[in-house]
Amino acid sequence: MTDSELHDHLESTSITLFAEPGLPAEMHAGFLLAADLFGRFYPRVSLDGDKALASQALARIMAINPSLEATLGQGEGSDYALRFSPRASSARQVSVWASGWNVLIDGGPSPLVVDPKQPPSPLAACAAATIGVGEVFRGVFEQELGDRGRRALTPEGLNLVTLGRATDSVPLASPDLFIERFYLVGAGAIGQAAIYALKHSGLRGAICAVDPESVELSNLQRYVLTRDADIGVKKTALVVRELSGTGLSVVPVDAPWSGALVQFDEQRPVLVALDSAEDRIAVQASLPGPIYNAYTQPRDLGWSRHERFGEEACLACLYWPTHARPNRHEQIAEALKQSPHRVLAYLLSGTSAGQPLLPQAIPVIAGQEAPLEAEGWTERSILDDVAETAEVERAKLEPWSERPLADLYQDGICGGALLESRIGEVPRDVLVPLAHQSALAGVMLAAQFIASSDPALRPLRPSEVEGRFDVLSGPGQILPVPRGRSEACLCADADFVAAHQAKEQGDARVDE
Ligand SMILES: [Zn+2]
Repeated sequence: MTDSELHDHLESTSITLFAEPGLPAEMHAGFLLAADLFGRFYPRVSLDGDKALASQALARIMAINPSLEATLGQGEGSDYALRFSPRASSARQVSVWASGWNVLIDGGPSPLVVDPKQPPSPLAACAAATIGVGEVFRGVFEQELGDRGRRALTPEGLNLVTLGRATDSVPLASPDLFIERFYLVGAGAIGQAAIYALKHSGLRGAICAVDPESVELSNLQRYVLTRDADIGVKKTALVVRELSGTGLSVVPVDAPWSGALVQFDEQRPVLVALDSAEDRIAVQASLPGPIYNAYTQPRDLGWSRHERFGEEACLACLYWPTHARPNRHEQIAEALKQSPHRVLAYLLSGTSAGQPLLPQAIPVIAGQEAPLEAEGWTERSILDDVAETAEVERAKLEPWSERPLADLYQDGICGGALLESRIGEVPRDVLVPLAHQSALAGVMLAAQFIASSDPALRPLRPSEVEGRFDVLSGPGQILPVPRGRSEACLCADADFVAAHQAKEQGDARVDE
């Protein structure tokens, strides 16, 4: 599907978001999150059902995108719908509901093993919203997604704490949950969704938000805390704005993460929503307290917890370069369908994606000759070739022209701007922002942080430290992922482990 075909497909698709009249208040934030995500992607959205809530949603999406064709109460006859309702509807009308920590999709599993009238966790409602928006996406792109498209009801239920099937045996989070201080590193798409979810979770305390960057135009499609006028605003300022007047106070730090933020005598939790492996390893190497992490990849999203340094997989274990996964440049090359050699040259030399390489920027790799096509690399930019391979209009990639190639990978592939799909046997790339993917990663980051901080919930978490969800494969997946430690990681370094233990003991003394 080319960019203009995608545009036409979206223009001709109408979406309805419906709220069951009298929707429980704990689900309102979820409903508004769904409206927000629809408003960033679909040009024609109708808001229906509960009148007060539909009006609120309309106001929210008009602030995001004033040119949107948004209407109230015109839900009849739309092509697809997301309904906040406990009852199943049809393949083109996705139903989601939250009960306790459970997300129920299309009425929930049959037989329904949970009470749908349980008071919902606002976090489950936010997760329901993102999964529901993802189900609508699988419907709208049913043709393009092949056997991954949504063609039938998928009655399922999952519990955000146990990461297993829906269950009534998990209590809600304590209303008194208070965390004196914790960090959020990275206030991009994932970090912002985590903030949105934490705001509505009822958690009180103080958060130190760390991010050196400002909002760019290309961010608006995926950043749930942004409005139309926010280009150029510091990302941390969005966190301050979102949490003002709530039980969470914010200390903004407009700089990259630094070990200097971690004081020797304290072990505060760190929520990590960063883009690169290098930055994540740097956070772990600064020996902070427990780490909660979330990420998106081209095909799925995930989250992980790292609490027992030197005993279970640390954050660096997941990203350690010797891990048996492709190197970063190989990953980028595969995603962009370009030569790894050429990608490495861009990464090492810092050449902007819109510029051809200088001859001296092409690295000599032992045992590997640069391919014959390498001569062309000094004449054409890699961005030109990516556009051609992906059948994307070159002008659409212009926002990345002056930026490092890694940004195109991060926003374009991980952020979902270029989604790989297959039509027949021919691999094609379509331009689609998977805002709901980053949003779900952020909600799961918040959920695992709350579940880990509440003494009643902590023992109910899965033993696996990592979880994953593929937004293109529908509900009913197994989420927990076993993860071992990486050899030669810094958590296997005796000096690092000793330094960490010294900090933990220092922390214990302060607590006494
Ligand atoms: Zn490790």
